[in-house]
Amino acid sequence: MKVAIFSAKPYDQEHLNPANQGQHELTYFEAHLNPQTAILAKGFDAVCCFVNDTLNAETVRTLGEAGVRMIAMRCAGYNNVDLEAARKFGIRVARVPEYSPYAVAEHAVALILDLNRNIHRAYNRVRENDYSLSGLLGFDLHGKTVGVVGTGKIGVAFARIMSGFGCQVLASDPVENPDLQGFARYVDQELLLREADIISLHCPLLPQTHHLINAETIQMMKPGVMIINTSRGGLIDTPAVIDGLKSEQIGYLGLDVYEEEAELFFEDYSNVLLQDDVFARLLTFPNVVVTGHQAFFTQEALSAIAEITINNLCAFEQSESEGVEWVV
Ligand code: NAD
Repeated sequence: MKVAIFSAKPYDQEHLNPANQGQHELTYFEAHLNPQTAILAKGFDAVCCFVNDTLNAETVRTLGEAGVRMIAMRCAGYNNVDLEAARKFGIRVARVPEYSPYAVAEHAVALILDLNRNIHRAYNRVRENDYSLSGLLGFDLHGKTVGVVGTGKIGVAFARIMSGFGCQVLASDPVENPDLQGFARYVDQELLLREADIISLHCPLLPQTHHLINAETIQMMKPGVMIINTSRGGLIDTPAVIDGLKSEQIGYLGLDVYEEEAELFFEDYSNVLLQDDVFARLLTFPNVVVTGHQAFFTQEALSAIAEITINNLCAFEQSESEGVEWVV
């Protein structure tokens, strides 16, 4: 099949080409897929997209009219795809449901350890020949309560690691996962928010989970709580979190995702002035660490994403459904 790969980076090519082994004709576009660029897909059978491509109704309509028959997401989340529009135009949508839950879970843990022990501040101090410890005081993770919102593949991997640190793990999810038995206790979400010293988000972005962390829920939390979001930016109302940081209700914030990240992440803007004032304010807090949607970014995960994406394309071409998680 002829496949147009959007938001393509050199590392995508380095993993997709060997996985493809010449089975499909892959064309790489650096551009994001959005209503303006969708016309580039004319003449292709499929498009392959990533987290910050905009597959809204307008984009999907252009894809449908251009003859595209499949959208192969090379990520787990698909909140950026208008599924109704895909159905309407008879376009099938596949995703990569599981490539390495450990990659994302371990990154969430890295953010916790960094924030708790002030590694980001210590790194800068030592480089300045400053070995003072004031302001670097951390806390033992052992014995603390960790709340995991969303106990799918990543949430379970995360809960197991935190349990290994000697934490008490609380979980909330409309569907209980038996893999967590012995590692965590399910409670309702409000209790989790009230009891946890550390809250880590691992649920998808849905209308029900949009701004799950907001002014009201922040007020329920323990003063000085640590919030970690490696899931999707829209789970957090960022201005409310900034207020929470200013009042010290939130003691630590670790983000790998940001609601308006599509304008920023994955690009080098080091020579450009930052225009997003909300994001700029976040970066002023010493107790906030932000990474640019890199939780998935491990060798193992990129190889698995490439293999599964190529398998999904092959399955579509051969009208086989086995082993494919079709979203539409
Ligand atoms: P998954 O589908 O295995 O698990 C998601 C879980 O969330 C499910 O158990 C579901 O029941 C639960 N859930 C749904 N609504 C909920 C709610 N209202 N409250 C609590 N739980 C709810 O997904 P996963 O593979 O574990 O991935 C989780 C999320 O991580 C994805 O949706 C994606 O947004 C994000 N992600 C981020 C990165 C990154 O690089 N930062 C990479 C991969 C995935």
